Amino acid sequence: MISNRELFLQNTAQTSNSPRLIEVEKAEGSYLYGPNGQKYLDLVSGFNVSNIGHRHPKVIEAIQNQIDKYLHVTVYGEFVQAPQVQFATKLLNTLPNSFGSVYLTNSGAEAVEGSMKIAKRYTGRRQIIAAKNAYHGSTQGALSLIGGTAYHEAYAPLLPEIEFIEFNNILDLETITTQTAAVIVEAIQGEAGVRVPTKPYMQALRARCNEVGALLVFDEIQTGFGRTGKLFAFEHFDIVPDILMLAKGIGGGLPLGAFVAPKEIMDVIKDNPMLGHITTFGGHPVSCAAALASLDVIQNENLIAGVAEKEALFRKELAHPKIKEIRGLGLMMCIQVDNFDQVYNVSKYCAEHSVMIDWYLHCETALRIAPPLTISTQEIREACQVIRLAIDKFC
Ligand code: PLP
Repeated sequence: MISNRELFLQNTAQTSNSPRLIEVEKAEGSYLYGPNGQKYLDLVSGFNVSNIGHRHPKVIEAIQNQIDKYLHVTVYGEFVQAPQVQFATKLLNTLPNSFGSVYLTNSGAEAVEGSMKIAKRYTGRRQIIAAKNAYHGSTQGALSLIGGTAYHEAYAPLLPEIEFIEFNNILDLETITTQTAAVIVEAIQGEAGVRVPTKPYMQALRARCNEVGALLVFDEIQTGFGRTGKLFAFEHFDIVPDILMLAKGIGGGLPLGAFVAPKEIMDVIKDNPMLGHITTFGGHPVSCAAALASLDVIQNENLIAGVAEKEALFRKELAHPKIKEIRGLGLMMCIQVDNFDQVYNVSKYCAEHSVMIDWYLHCETALRIAPPLTISTQEIREACQVIRLAIDKFC
């Protein structure tokens, strides 16, 4: 019989020549389980998705309740579907009052697409500014914002009238002018290898956007929902963006994205022409039911309160002379080493010793550490012991 691994390589589209090929049979809490008794302590969280752990019982219960009622019933924006309404309302209740409307999507990239559209429409301007080394998704619009030339060249033509600034460089803010519809930035650059900007930079960025009338759009697709020790990372900088983009962690493990804006900005898609942004599956009721339960868990189990302490424990347990730097905020971290061989070998060794870590798209020299926020102190100690051994061996 042909194995699933062979069928995976043969029949499903490959995104690189070196997939990790970890076979998963089950996932629960902080762990992934393979078909032959393998067990991995998951420090990747499905790339910042499983913030409350895998298969949280409250999420499973909410999914089961919803599937007993209905699955897909119609396209987004027509029928009143309680899970969408309840989740959007709860989400707005966690945000500053300036936010008044939530558009639910299937994914992060779609939230980026929608945000670019409403920003252009609302301001009547065409230019979008993004940051070098950014990652905002893989659709053509989102890919136009990627801060790396290889993708621009390979998939040309991408969107016109996109300019790039250097992230965290106040001097570059002059590039933002009265021609700029929106500046789209990650609250913390993830795929660049976890680059945390300074508070003065973010405040200067907010001030510059105000000065020239450009909208400030925050990509919190990786940072959102508690990962950095606040529900949203913009709270660290004492500023409020105009548009907020979410995905990954908000769905409690199911696919869901959102862009959130003041009502007057969001309303531009309603007419002239009508149906300016539509989707069939965006805001799927089962995903929204899971998202609602997941947000309840984050709040009721007080998960955010433990994040700073867990970050501190990681930093203490990972202290090692061969680690150049540990960057990050909360449980969005990376270990900086010297080269990709080390990244590859350390990740491989860790997987062989039951700890799952990974790397970043734009930073070949950093190891990804982004465990579920529910990870226990004992699990952190066990994981760090394996990572230290791998660093000893390969760095
Ligand atoms: N923005 C950021 C910061 C991301 O990390 C990602 C995905 O990794 C996206 C946007 C795109 O999200 P999705 O993969 O759901 O389209």
